[in-house]
Amino acid sequence: MTIKEIDKQYIAPTYARFNVQLVGGKGSRVWDENGKEYIDLGTGIAVNAFGVADEKWQQAVTAQLGKIQHTSNLYYNEPCALLAQTLCQRTGMKKVFFSNSGAEANECAIKLARKHGELTKGKAYYTIITLKNSFHGRTITTLSATGQDVFHEHFTPMTDGFVHATANDIEDMTALVKTHKCCGIFLELVQGEGGVMPLDKAFVKEVEKLAKENDLLLMIDEVQTGNGRTGSLYAFEQFDIMPDVITTAKGLGGGLPIGATMLGERAETLFAPGLNGSTFGGNPVCSAGALSVLSRIDDELLSSVREKSAYIFDALKGAKGVKSVSGLGLMIGIESERDAGEVIKDCQDRGVLVIKAKNKVRLLPALNIPFEELKTAINILKEELAK
Ligand SMILES: *Cc1c(COP(=O)(O)O)cnc(C)c1O
Repeated sequence: MTIKEIDKQYIAPTYARFNVQLVGGKGSRVWDENGKEYIDLGTGIAVNAFGVADEKWQQAVTAQLGKIQHTSNLYYNEPCALLAQTLCQRTGMKKVFFSNSGAEANECAIKLARKHGELTKGKAYYTIITLKNSFHGRTITTLSATGQDVFHEHFTPMTDGFVHATANDIEDMTALVKTHKCCGIFLELVQGEGGVMPLDKAFVKEVEKLAKENDLLLMIDEVQTGNGRTGSLYAFEQFDIMPDVITTAKGLGGGLPIGATMLGERAETLFAPGLNGSTFGGNPVCSAGALSVLSRIDDELLSSVREKSAYIFDALKGAKGVKSVSGLGLMIGIESERDAGEVIKDCQDRGVLVIKAKNKVRLLPALNIPFEELKTAINILKEELAK
């Protein structure tokens, strides 16, 4: 049997896979089982921040593997402590809780908000406002937070205590704050799975004010937007706000599973021993990978991310077959005249990997993709969009 056949027989059929088996790569080039090469503009859904088989990252990870691969949270471990320190120093947050995925990082944020509600107003104040068209994860509770009914189907009852406001509609949000017993507001600043839709800056600023006035935790889901993806280390920096909680995952580990929930001043005292935990959380190998990733997201890299972003917007805005281009940094959605699935398939045939978000073609290239490779890939994509 081929790997594709074994996969079809033995893997639970929750994924509609492309007909490509990836076996290796270098940087932004990956290759399949037949040796066909692709320029990768998807990075395993914004995970391989520095592409594939990056030497510095590999070195950091294998050096830690040679020392100790896992400690549990019963003991101190250096990469985990240093990673928390780095995250706090670079964001202004105060403390970090580590887990293994975006969904878990978000579960932690939800716990924090509920604890905050209990503490400030009483147990009945447990409702969290999220946005319609959001995506916060696949556990039952993060699905409940997700403001898209299609994800709830088959799995009801959802966890109680989530209401969904219309993005960029401060009146709707204000009405929900008034009519529900709330403890927090939880947002993506660029809705990723929802179609790469950045929120209006004025709306986000108003939400921050609303949260302050009503003593609600302002929590930002940076699982996808974080770690340099949008052209700043975290997207909140570009929205002129200071969140109470920031969650991240995807690109943080550079390819290893790690989630982080960062607690600001108003959240840092909410947890006490026993209130949350994770066997693998803060794993030293994943933490070493994340430390390596963060050490390389400096001003120079971020300005190159913004430059590459501007190049892509310039190349695609108003191009033949393109209805609209949205996004921030190297997180870009293209609304095409052709069916997005067909554009993606044709790009694959021509050696370019792009992915989908809703009805859009989504680009999430490596932060360090060489300009020449980016240009080659965008030219091919442009030709396919124009067909
Ligand atoms: C991917 C994603 C998640 C879920 O992350 P997992 O690691 O798959 O659990 C949550 N929120 C946002 C914004 C995401 O993009």
